[in-house]
Amino acid sequence: MKTDHPALRIAVIGAGPRSLGALEALAADLREEQRAVQIDTFDPFPANAAGPNFDPEESPLCLLNTAMRDIDIRAPRSSKCGAFADWLAHDPDLDSFPLRADLGRYLEARHTDLAAQGHPTITRVFGRADDLRPNGDGWEISLHGQWLGPYDEVLLTPGQPASTPDDQLSHWQNHAARSGAILANAYPARNLARAAEQWGDKTVAIRGMGLSVFDVLRVLTLGLGGRFEHGKYIASGREPARILLFSLDGKPPFPKPETGELDAPFTPPKADTEAFCKAMAQASCSAPDKARELLNAAIIPAVRHVLEHHAVTVSDKDIADWLDKEWDVPGSQSSDGPRETLQAGIELASGQRAPDIGFAFGQIWRKWQDEIRAAYNPVETPPDTAEQIVGFDEGLKRYSYGQPISSAREMEALIEAGIVDLGHAADPQLDLTPSGWQLTSGNRQTEVLVMVDSVLPSPNLSITTDPLICGLMENGKLTEITKGMGARTAPDGTVIDVDGTPIPHLCLLGRMSLGSVIAADSLHDCFGEAANRWARGVAERLKQKSDKEPA
Ligand SMILES: Cc1cc2nc3c(=O)[nH]c(=O)nc-3n(C[C@H](O)[C@H](O)[C@H](O)COP(=O)(O)OP(=O)(O)OC[C@H]3O[C@@H](n4cnc5c(N)ncnc54)[C@H](O)[C@@H]3O)c2cc1C
Repeated sequence: MKTDHPALRIAVIGAGPRSLGALEALAADLREEQRAVQIDTFDPFPANAAGPNFDPEESPLCLLNTAMRDIDIRAPRSSKCGAFADWLAHDPDLDSFPLRADLGRYLEARHTDLAAQGHPTITRVFGRADDLRPNGDGWEISLHGQWLGPYDEVLLTPGQPASTPDDQLSHWQNHAARSGAILANAYPARNLARAAEQWGDKTVAIRGMGLSVFDVLRVLTLGLGGRFEHGKYIASGREPARILLFSLDGKPPFPKPETGELDAPFTPPKADTEAFCKAMAQASCSAPDKARELLNAAIIPAVRHVLEHHAVTVSDKDIADWLDKEWDVPGSQSSDGPRETLQAGIELASGQRAPDIGFAFGQIWRKWQDEIRAAYNPVETPPDTAEQIVGFDEGLKRYSYGQPISSAREMEALIEAGIVDLGHAADPQLDLTPSGWQLTSGNRQTEVLVMVDSVLPSPNLSITTDPLICGLMENGKLTEITKGMGARTAPDGTVIDVDGTPIPHLCLLGRMSLGSVIAADSLHDCFGEAANRWARGVAERLKQKSDKEPA
């Protein structure tokens, strides 16, 4: 180790799971580095590597949306932690969906393990980085007005930073502040659970019917002493009188296949996957129409083969028609109502109903997520193609990011018990009342005193309010790949400025670069090739810097 040289210094802003993936990858690439390397990770959030979504302190009612059998986040060979399933104190059921807090504890343990190895040295800086300025070849970081650094490299891994509320939410926030109506966030779920202790006789509405709604329902029922037994809900009497769910289309997502055995036949033949990889790579640098044509041509045989395996016969034309609708208006293929969609999802995921085109393709798309990233992320995608392909992937999340079937069954049991009400599920009219809200659907009107927001802000760079990101946007360093999407970055995460020039030694990974990358909202992506590419780039640049300096 060259102890007579100053340490190379790296800053990572945001200490969630993605920072751990990046640090582990970098530690592996720096094994031969003779210079000391000092890494400072900035985050106001207390836990290392878990981030708010896998907060070890979060309610045990919040579950991962990934079955244990599918969790594959590589632990480095040097780590004592091993795989998540081996690290847990009990032998997990591989078809179960683990607690998000348990996963957070595991990530923390991996971080502790990495930091204990001592090369590189990792130091945690508690606080929100609020500005960045160049210093020589590197950067300085402002923390509460104090400049720290200089750093040879800066990596931004801010997850979903704070952003401007949408018009509806902003209007409701003002209303709640004026009237005393209760407007609550879905997370942290433990805060929601505390607030819900007071909602025993109230009607509650939940905005958003994505994955978070299942966490909220568990908090408002199991969290208040209720239980599910033999498919029925046994009320405690402390839960809200009624819970109304609503969203733009009123449809819940589809659960994942219940067991590994049911899931396996959705894996497409190898040749179809290879053809898809080629098509995805070509599509990612083509014009939108060509991209759609290339992808459809690769998807159709895969869907046909998977359905044939389930003894379901469909024509290529049926699949092509389904895909055309999906590209244009995701979900428009089905006229099923909210409850029919929920029940269909349960039957499909439990194997009681033969798969249709949507369910089969949704599972194939889930299984192709790594291939999608591998083909899309390393190339520069034209902005209009990026918008189209990312939009297609986002629409398919209703299948590919599906909830555990147990959560869908719980929702069904709560409807049966008269607690959950889907009568206003599809885009109700929403009016303010002196003490809350009124939902109107056709002739039906319902007043609610409590509104829970379970909608995640969109990964739109321009709505961010985080001072660091806003500052970088104002001086043209960060720029949207196209309106309403994430930042323009190179395959190794290097930030590309408004003039198309790469900014040396400044990288961004994760959700805020959606469009430059795809399918970033996943743990697997945090520990995937994007982190490796970033680490290889940094290790190479640090080596060049070391080589230039006298021995
Ligand atoms: C409710 C929820 C549930 C999810 N469940 C799953 C799941 O089950 N499976 C799955 O694969 N994925 C899940 N995801 C997707 C999830 O976002 C990613 O898997 C993962 O959390 C992304 O990690 P990250 O490090 O990029 O971001 P985060 O985990 O969000 O971490 C970013 C960190 O950056 C910090 N930060 C931001 N700005 C600054 C700043 N200026 N200075 C200092 N620190 C800053 C934040 O405080 C935060 O701690 C879920 C997402 C949500 C919202």
